[in-house]
Amino acid sequence: TPSGRAGLLAGLDADQACAAEATGVPLMVIAGPGSGKTRMLTHRIAHLVRECGVPATACLAVTFTRKATEELRARLAALLGQEARQVAVHSFHSLGLAILRAHAARAGLAPDFGIAAEAERKAALAQALGVSESRAGRFLKAVSLLKRTGATGTDEEENARAALRRIAREQNRLDFDDLVVQAADLLETHPDIAALWRERFSHVLADEFQDIDEQQYRLLRLIGEDGGDLCVIGDPDQAIYGFRGADAACFARFGQDFPSARTLRLANNYRSTGTIATAAARFIGAPVAGIVRPMQEPIALHVAATEAAEAEFVAATIEDLLGGHDMLAANRGGRAGAADRPLGFADCAVLYRTDAQAAALRAAFDRAGIPFRKSSPAPIQDHPGVVAILEALEDVAAGPDLSARIAAAAETARKQGKADAPALAEARGWLAALAASDAVAGDAGRLAEEIALSTEADFRDARADRVSLLTMHAAKGLEFAVVFVIGMEAGLVPFSWGPEDDEVTEAEERRLFYVAMTRARDRLFLTRAAERFWRGETRLRAPSPFLGAIDAALTTSTGTDGRKRRQAKQLSLF
Ligand code: ATP
Ligand code: MG
Repeated sequence: TPSGRAGLLAGLDADQACAAEATGVPLMVIAGPGSGKTRMLTHRIAHLVRECGVPATACLAVTFTRKATEELRARLAALLGQEARQVAVHSFHSLGLAILRAHAARAGLAPDFGIAAEAERKAALAQALGVSESRAGRFLKAVSLLKRTGATGTDEEENARAALRRIAREQNRLDFDDLVVQAADLLETHPDIAALWRERFSHVLADEFQDIDEQQYRLLRLIGEDGGDLCVIGDPDQAIYGFRGADAACFARFGQDFPSARTLRLANNYRSTGTIATAAARFIGAPVAGIVRPMQEPIALHVAATEAAEAEFVAATIEDLLGGHDMLAANRGGRAGAADRPLGFADCAVLYRTDAQAAALRAAFDRAGIPFRKSSPAPIQDHPGVVAILEALEDVAAGPDLSARIAAAAETARKQGKADAPALAEARGWLAALAASDAVAGDAGRLAEEIALSTEADFRDARADRVSLLTMHAAKGLEFAVVFVIGMEAGLVPFSWGPEDDEVTEAEERRLFYVAMTRARDRLFLTRAAERFWRGETRLRAPSPFLGAIDAALTTSTGTDGRKRRQAKQLSLF
């Protein structure tokens, strides 16, 4: 049902257009994967700016990662052109940073405060407490969770928290969590500053709201509070950051905090084939409704003998799919605006539960000559290439062209042997991309801040024709024509942390797999290895119990786990 609206709402269906237009009240948009939530968000901003006379600078869109902010900026640019640059698009961290920078003195910070790299904090904490770095690393995680949730920890944890606070003060550096917590504290204790930010942003929008934690919610609320135009968007079925203190009860909380709030739902799944959408909805127990695309190819289940064979299967299947465009073309029909261009590597993604699973894929892809990009959540600030270039950047004469300075610094770092060539090349690419981005706009000071906020995953360049290798967590919000979810084995999916696993963790793992399945537009492959090297040993592995929860009528199976072959052989002896 097209909306029948003119202008910027024409590309939305009736429900989406209704959500995009509903201003003047706090709004919750709750809807499933692929229902166009993010599309609605960008159209809503464009509609406000172009058709309602709201200044672009008065719109604030908040999301979780820098990559997600880049994606929002790109989608906004497509709708608004140059004007999109004036919309404030922030991750929670960069929003906190912007607020603290603007009022450093009143926040009790030195004007030149920096952001501490993870590795640096770990080392300093280990030294301060006289413990190993790995133990210090565990303390860092625990303290981070305490900060996000506002909880009190054990004596040991509180001791570590105090030590970290001392270190931060001495080094004049904040960590990521501090950015959000201290910005929220500042707004709470300085009503005049809060009023300033509320006035500045008359329209506040938050995507992926289901993954918001206590402190992020506090910050959002402080900015959006009485504006009446706070719009939060998300899907409770896709909440996957409970382990980091996020709380999907945030929707209920929003309803309590803003009693006048309206809730709107979007009904249709535009992303996935009917087959994939149906299987996913049945898996999570959501209503099977709003299926727009026809039923197409079944979900392919494949069992390989080993993890290496599993990786080979993925590589060979990608080669088949890319070699036989026609075969897939039929399956891509029925999707509004489906591209007629042939399928490329960039249309394929391989998702896994743990980063370690990427090793076998890398080897198989290298052998097959398949270009790929692995997204790592590692902060680039700690990357040796980045460190080397930033050392060297100080020695390069200041000039107006930041990109040229970065190139010169990379060259100096190479000559001085400060890091190896591949690391430098990689780092140089990231820094050049940042320097050219809207957030930095050629300003060396802002470059340092963006570096501090960026992870390797942020540089997944959508234009490069490469297969994406991603953890299920990193795949949130993205979509690909072809998706492989590998390692569908007990212990991995759902991930088993140990004997203390409970229903809460299992439910979060279930939602995580649901996020993974729903990234697929046209084809979904679920693979497993009968035998895998994991946690120090090669063992036979049982299939994931989640496979049993996928409607068998929507799947087709291939491969053999070798065990059956062995059994068959034994049987044939009788
Ligand atoms: P997720 O929960 O996974 O983040 P989402 O609800 O944000 O999903 P989008 O990414 O906004 O969904 O949209 C999914 C896909 O469907 C996109 O390719 C989008 O362009 C397309 N789409 C959304 N709405 C429409 C529409 N009204 N007409 C045509 N295509 C649409
Ligand atoms: Mg989205």
